[in-house]
Parts: sequence; structure tokens; C-alpha cells
Amino acid sequence: MINLKTKEEIEIMKEAGYISALALKAAGDAMKPGITTKYLDRVARDCIESNGAKPSFLGVGGFPACTCISVNNEIIHGIPSKSRVIEEGDVVTIDVGAYFKGFHGDNAKTFACGEVPMETRRLLEITEKALQIGIDTAKIGMRIGDIGSAIQKFVESNGFSVVREYCGHGIGRSIHEDPSVPNFGESGKGVLIEDGMVIAIEPMVNVGRPNVVKLKDGWSVVTADGELSAHFEHTVAVTEKGVIVLTDLGL
Ligand code: MG
Repeated sequence: MINLKTKEEIEIMKEAGYISALALKAAGDAMKPGITTKYLDRVARDCIESNGAKPSFLGVGGFPACTCISVNNEIIHGIPSKSRVIEEGDVVTIDVGAYFKGFHGDNAKTFACGEVPMETRRLLEITEKALQIGIDTAKIGMRIGDIGSAIQKFVESNGFSVVREYCGHGIGRSIHEDPSVPNFGESGKGVLIEDGMVIAIEPMVNVGRPNVVKLKDGWSVVTADGELSAHFEHTVAVTEKGVIVLTDLGL
């Protein structure tokens, strides 16, 4: 069932989104060679809690942390760890959500730690742009398949691939709501996009093949071929005045 949001609910979701974005920025700003992914999780948690919110991810399905931190060939759901030290040249995805006044925000970004090769930089740029294309497609009267199709076409035309097994999602009083928002698909297909729909759009883009493997920790999802992956996400509200990026610090 899709829970469309009222204007008032979207106003509250702006606050949850803003805190989510603050936490993502705080953790990203704290990133440097030699620190652990557990430390970044702590930075994000402190930011969320000092703003009067709660971490959205902690305890979801038993997840043991506030952020998912996925390094290099890890795509999503990496568990922050004291033993995972970030090195110069790593690409690090931080995915974090905040729960505030009954609603969730959710956002993610892949950061380059220090200098990375040109091709890696291009991966991050294409993935971020794919997210923007997805956002631009989220309009009243379009369908969820239009978003996935636009993202997939853009990514594949740039020589990368999109992950199929994990998708964006509706978001609101629950962190994961209907509809599912795949990063691939056919235009004109899928759920109709309506006024008040709030979704997290989150392309996961692989340098190599799209195939994924889940690790024995039960959470971390990595590329099957060991190549790099990137992931950018925003929570957006579709309204009659256009799409609003709720996890935009500029709001
Ligand atoms: Mg999400």
C-alpha cells in the first residue's frame, strides 16, 4: 500500500531529511585515511542524536549500526567496524537515515578518500548524475518504471551497470514503504506517480557487471566481479509544485 503524504507531513519530512543530510555531511567531512568505519558511524550518530532525532537504521532487521558504510567493491549494507580502516584512494559509501517527529529521512553518497584515478572519479560523477536524472523524472503522472528506465539508460550509455537486486523505496512513517523504486525498467510501466508520493531514489552503479554477492556477515553486498561500485541517494517528495529533495541541506 502506498502512503501518500499531506503537505503537513512533507513539512515534517523536510526536517527528518535535513537531519539525515547533516549526518551524511558530518560523516563525509570526518573521513580521512587512517580512521575506521566505526568512527564515521559514531560521528553520524552523534549528529543525529544532538539534533533530537534517532538513527533510522539501527535495529532494522537486526542491523547493528546507525549507518551502512560500504568500501570499494562493497555496494551497500556494509557494517561499520573498528577493524575497517579507510585508506587513501578508497571510495566510501555512507548511507544514513534519521527518524524525527514520526518520519524518516534516508540518503547516501559515495566519497573518494583523497586522490582516486580518473575512471573512479567518473564512476562517482555518473552515479550522482544518474540520481539527478531519476529525481528529474519523478513527476506527477509519470510511472516508477520511467525513473528506473531513465537511470538505467544513462548509466549503461556511460559504460557502467546498475544493480538489480536492491532498489529505492517509498519512505515515511516507516523507513521502507511501497513502492519499490528499481534502478532499471521500462518507461510507461509500474506504479503511477502521484501528488504526495515520497520516495528514496538510490542508484547503485557498478564499474563492471551488475551481479552481486551477499557476504557471510549476512549484510554486506559486494560486486561479484570485485570491481568498484558507487551509490547516491536522496529522499524526494513529489508535489504539484514539482519534486522537493527532502535530504538537501540547501532546503
Ligand atoms: Mg534507502
